Amino acid sequence: MKKACIEAIKARICYDSRGNESIEVDVKVNSFIGRACAPKGASTGKYEAVDFNPKGIEASLKLLSDYSSKLIGFDASDPYSLSQLLREIDGTENFSRIGGSMAYAISMATAEAFSKSKGIPLYKMLLPNGPYLMPYPLGNVLCGGKHAGPGAPDIQEFLICPLGVKNIREGLKINIAVHKEVRKQIEKKDPYFTGGKGDEGGWAPYVKDEEAFELVSSASQIVSDVFGVDIKLGVDFASSSLWNNNEKAYIYNRSKVKRSPGEQLDFIMELVNKYHLIYLEDPFHEEAYDEFAELTKKLSKVYIAGDDIFVTNTYRLLKGIKMKAGNAAILKVNQAGTLGDALNFAENARKHNYALITSHRSGDTSDAHLAHIAIATKSKMIKSGVVGGERLSKLNELLRIDEELSGCGMAKLEV
Ligand code: PEP
Ligand code: MG
Repeated sequence: MKKACIEAIKARICYDSRGNESIEVDVKVNSFIGRACAPKGASTGKYEAVDFNPKGIEASLKLLSDYSSKLIGFDASDPYSLSQLLREIDGTENFSRIGGSMAYAISMATAEAFSKSKGIPLYKMLLPNGPYLMPYPLGNVLCGGKHAGPGAPDIQEFLICPLGVKNIREGLKINIAVHKEVRKQIEKKDPYFTGGKGDEGGWAPYVKDEEAFELVSSASQIVSDVFGVDIKLGVDFASSSLWNNNEKAYIYNRSKVKRSPGEQLDFIMELVNKYHLIYLEDPFHEEAYDEFAELTKKLSKVYIAGDDIFVTNTYRLLKGIKMKAGNAAILKVNQAGTLGDALNFAENARKHNYALITSHRSGDTSDAHLAHIAIATKSKMIKSGVVGGERLSKLNELLRIDEELSGCGMAKLEV
């Protein structure tokens, strides 16, 4: 049988959903082409892989010709050894030579090309024996922070999770209904609302955090009553964006509030009790392992997810596990740099009973790989917005996978 090797690699500059330049790569395996275009964050973690060589995207692109001969002929079947090779070629901790976007796109395009050459979908290639369960769609219905303009809330993401649904189709339907209802609720408060949205497709109204919670909570209740389905709220504080290290405080500029770490903890507890939140992402900044651990001790039935703190980096996750900091982890392949490193991170998270949430980036592309990654890593949730082409490309792919599996069950949540 012909060995599945990388036969050719071609890279180009394309654009992400914010209109920023990104790297797209085509990889050929047994005459099959796999293609991937890297997403890009705005509220990035200090320790994640950087997108490009410091000299810019062109520098990352040009460098490919220096090392592509090392990739041609390389075994395409194993994302882990490809990841190791890319790390050796790069020679830095954070892919600052070849660029994390290039590493992401090569590793993802190779996996896609290999799976196509075998005639099996990507999620099955990565998880041959299942079980295949659908992640709950964690939908962003209201945007703030770095993903929206200065009039929007300080908190970055107001999220909903359709807890009571039986399948993914119903889950997407509910999230879309809540998204629509949130707009109606905003217009009741502000008849001149322009319909503006943030980077991830959630609405971006001129309101403060508390009002945003009220809007999302009433919209969810209305939809919940109509469909007879339990809908819960979650939040991504993106606290590293709020943290001021000189003042040792979280600065909520738009609400004109400053919170010490202790006050931040009290604020979170208040919100959890008032709005029955089941999901808290980055409640503290990226170095605050102790505060994460303190909150985790207080809340056993809430997912406390690390994004900027773990940055899909196994070493940082293992430190969190040791300190019992959080009980869930965001998985963003481009934070790690390569698919192999992200899969390794996911295995460690699962081994230690940390729930996985596979996530898009605020600047994303129309690629659908995220759906496959979420299923293959047995993620409990997928965070991929609610509307917008680059968000729905992933969510619609879940519907196709569900159809192919003749309907598969939802992941088991522990909330
Ligand atoms: C996030 O913080 O979870 C997120 C998706 O935003 P970004 O891609 O800007 O990091
Ligand atoms: Mg986040």
